[in-house]
Amino acid sequence: METKYIFVTGGVVSSLGKGIISSSLANLLKARGYRVTIQKFDPYINIDPGTLNPYEHGECYVTSDGHEADLDLGHYERFTDIHTSRANNVTTGRIYQSVIDKERRGDYLGKTVQIIPHITDEIKRNVKSLGKTGQYDFIITEIGGTVGDIESLPFIESVRQLRWELGNDCVCIHLTYVPYIKAAKELKTKPTQHSVKQLQEVGIQPDILVLRTEKIIPADMLRKIALFCNVSADAVIQSVDAPSIYEVPVMMHSQHLDELVLKKAGMAINGEPDMRPWMNFLDKMKMATEKVTIGLVGKYVELQDAYKSINESLFQAATYNDRKLDLRYIHSEKLNDSNIAEHLRDLDGVIIAPGFGQRGIEGKFVALKYCRENDIPTFGICLGMQCMVIEYARNVLGLGDANSTEMDHTTKNNVIDLMEEQKSISNMGGTMRLGAYTCKLNPNSRVAKAYKDKIEISERHRHRFEFNNDYREIFEKNGMKCVGENPETHLVEVVELPEKRWFIGTQYHPEYSSTVLNPNPIFVDFVAAAIKYQKERMLNN
Ligand code: GLN
Repeated sequence: METKYIFVTGGVVSSLGKGIISSSLANLLKARGYRVTIQKFDPYINIDPGTLNPYEHGECYVTSDGHEADLDLGHYERFTDIHTSRANNVTTGRIYQSVIDKERRGDYLGKTVQIIPHITDEIKRNVKSLGKTGQYDFIITEIGGTVGDIESLPFIESVRQLRWELGNDCVCIHLTYVPYIKAAKELKTKPTQHSVKQLQEVGIQPDILVLRTEKIIPADMLRKIALFCNVSADAVIQSVDAPSIYEVPVMMHSQHLDELVLKKAGMAINGEPDMRPWMNFLDKMKMATEKVTIGLVGKYVELQDAYKSINESLFQAATYNDRKLDLRYIHSEKLNDSNIAEHLRDLDGVIIAPGFGQRGIEGKFVALKYCRENDIPTFGICLGMQCMVIEYARNVLGLGDANSTEMDHTTKNNVIDLMEEQKSISNMGGTMRLGAYTCKLNPNSRVAKAYKDKIEISERHRHRFEFNNDYREIFEKNGMKCVGENPETHLVEVVELPEKRWFIGTQYHPEYSSTVLNPNPIFVDFVAAAIKYQKERMLNN
């Protein structure tokens, strides 16, 4: 079959969940046996989000091929188990960079280089590049931003052109918002009408409308929207706030989103999607009533999207352990020796978050010392693992000034140091150690047990600094074991304290590869250890 292209645009306001709708649709099409991928086009000038502060757009997600990507790619992978890559996330910056490179090479043969056709042609080439591989039946393209934004215009114009070129092989879904005005006790359709008008003004007639709403929209209102927006009545569906994002595929299926897309793409509708594994997960999620309480110690805790993949991995792990996740965010800047017990005492497990720079780092050491001395299950991820090493060096090995050269480049005890190949790098963008690398685990370690005795794993990375192997012997002799390493470079990827209940730090980020149907085993094992610890405490009380 010809590859079908589905575009998802958004209107009225941002943060309506285009990523969740795109992921849910991909989930349903995949459950019908189709080969699907999702890509995101972001209208900002940064080449990729790798240089963005988490306060801007939330977490930076990392694909296995080492691309620093928008966090929506995390949803795509978690909902579908597909692997995304650099080709799945393109920004205005990347488009312009490529056009400007071509101009400098002389590829445009003396022509004036313009937004139309040169930028739009480059966008269209990128939209179709995954389709050209022949690996997919459906390419879902999410256009970042909202219709009407100046910076989205070239993308929207490209969709208009593609719709013309692709004919039946193209479906446009527009996601809008239907606000509920409390004082009037009324849902309002006008913003949706305006948003669709705006899309029509630039030449796009959406095929399907998805309305995000807090309250159920009555059938006559849906019909009214269909009439005003020039969309068939069965193609106006609603996305009511759900208790969990993982219920959205089911909600969309109950309103026939997958069938609508197949119909609009001129395809036959054969049977039903196989939702059994997904429903099993949802059943577990709904059945779980007892809690497991995990603390996340980090410095971006006021922003829920900053640790998105960790939150979701923990949620999946708790669900597979038949527990409800009670996740407590703990601001590392606020921690000190006198208040630490009060913050961590009642937790079943603690995660020390990844991050960059000095801010909040001392609080992480205070938390780690408390967790180690009180034998609380503790999981350090990336910077969190580096902090585990530094805290141990300072308080157990007696190296009082131990540090990472990221925080203090003059330290005599650089137990965490810049990787050799990083020393000559001056450009910040896309130059960290990124993407999936193989890691060999010590077969007798706690971490190997977590991975069900697998001794070769592959996990994704995003860091410049590493464990300094000059110190390996003294750590190992004094109880902190290096139990995972890269087989080629011997970089230390995992440390643990085998004497403790569960005290493991990973240089890699296991949260990027955890999905709903394939949760990352280290999170599942960590949560299991936290539950065990909770039960032990209950018995002793
Ligand atoms: N700042 C640390 C480094 O660059 C850790 C990075 C992270 O936690 N992702 O090595």
